[in-house]
Amino acid sequence: MVTHGGGEKLEEPLVIRPTSETIIGWAYSKWIQSYRDLPLLINQWNSVVRWELRTKLFLRTLEFFWQEGHTAHATYDEAEFETRQMLDIYTDFAVNEAAIPVIPGRKSQSERFAGADATYSIEAMMGDGKALQSGTSHNLGQNFAKAFEIKYLDQGGALQHCWTTSWGLSTRFIGAIIMVHGDDQGLILPPRLAPHQVVIVPIFKTDEEKALVFEASKKIREQLVKANIRVKVDEREGQSPGFKFNDWEMRGVPLRIEIGPKDVAKGSVVLARRDKPGKEGKSFVSQEGIAESVEKELATIQKALFDRALAFRDQHTHEPKNLQEFGVAVEQGFAKSRWCGDAKCEEQIKESTKATLRCIPMEQPGGSGACIFCGKPSNDVAIFGKAY
Ligand SMILES: [Zn+2]
Repeated sequence: MVTHGGGEKLEEPLVIRPTSETIIGWAYSKWIQSYRDLPLLINQWNSVVRWELRTKLFLRTLEFFWQEGHTAHATYDEAEFETRQMLDIYTDFAVNEAAIPVIPGRKSQSERFAGADATYSIEAMMGDGKALQSGTSHNLGQNFAKAFEIKYLDQGGALQHCWTTSWGLSTRFIGAIIMVHGDDQGLILPPRLAPHQVVIVPIFKTDEEKALVFEASKKIREQLVKANIRVKVDEREGQSPGFKFNDWEMRGVPLRIEIGPKDVAKGSVVLARRDKPGKEGKSFVSQEGIAESVEKELATIQKALFDRALAFRDQHTHEPKNLQEFGVAVEQGFAKSRWCGDAKCEEQIKESTKATLRCIPMEQPGGSGACIFCGKPSNDVAIFGKAY
């Protein structure tokens, strides 16, 4: 029970349990005896408390929700494979579900998870050019296995320490979705993640028109539901269509269907894209085969959001030639620079520019060059930026 934090009495006490590695490590040491028990994987969803002096909604919060996976293996290679596989899964989720381009990479020694042999992360650029570490995967080597006595008998009957991993993605990612795609009107949700992919707003004046438009809306809804599209008809009374348009725009619904008496007569509807405000994002489609048209439009929006975020990141990523250019680059976004691998050099970069080494991308250009800061030989290109 935590009653005080930062030297002050908390308004509400926090009831917490120790960090998962201790609980998982203890349990694994009981559950694992033989090579036959391996590999072992547990995934849990739970709340985490982190002491943050300056909180920021979704990005840095006193309490957050996440999934965390923990595995134990017989060999280093298996553990490394698992660690990298999870990095790939997080990358796939970010790119293909959330439409957020991310850079998968390795963390420098100073940014590694305490007790890990290697930490990998996916790094995303927010709409203000700042970096957000959006998911991590750790190869814990035998460090935790030794601390918690997680051992197994190998096939030759010898007692060995396991190789373990852990990895997680949190509600922080919701912050990434908001900050990468959103605009001054509010949220813009990628269709693949949106709880409501489509909202139908009926437009009418008289009761007669209302009956007509509601009937047509119902039929459209049925067609969309049949095609597994998440759709809502806004039948609220006493609110104008304009109010409803704004309301759903704020909530980030990717696609709006407008339907009035004239549309019913013509057998068509208006599709309005959230990501393209105004006339530019509007089109007329037939009510016949509406599910197909909507599916196509949602796929277009999903791709457009990714393309826009990628173009933004590219525009705000520079390859500085000298330190002065480096300073300008990290003010605007990412600097892609050669780095010598020395922790002291990394620390000096941080002190003089306030930029941190986000990751050493898995994709490397190869060759060698001089470290942007100290000029020593460098084989790796790293991504630097200011981070949340
Ligand atoms: Zn250096």
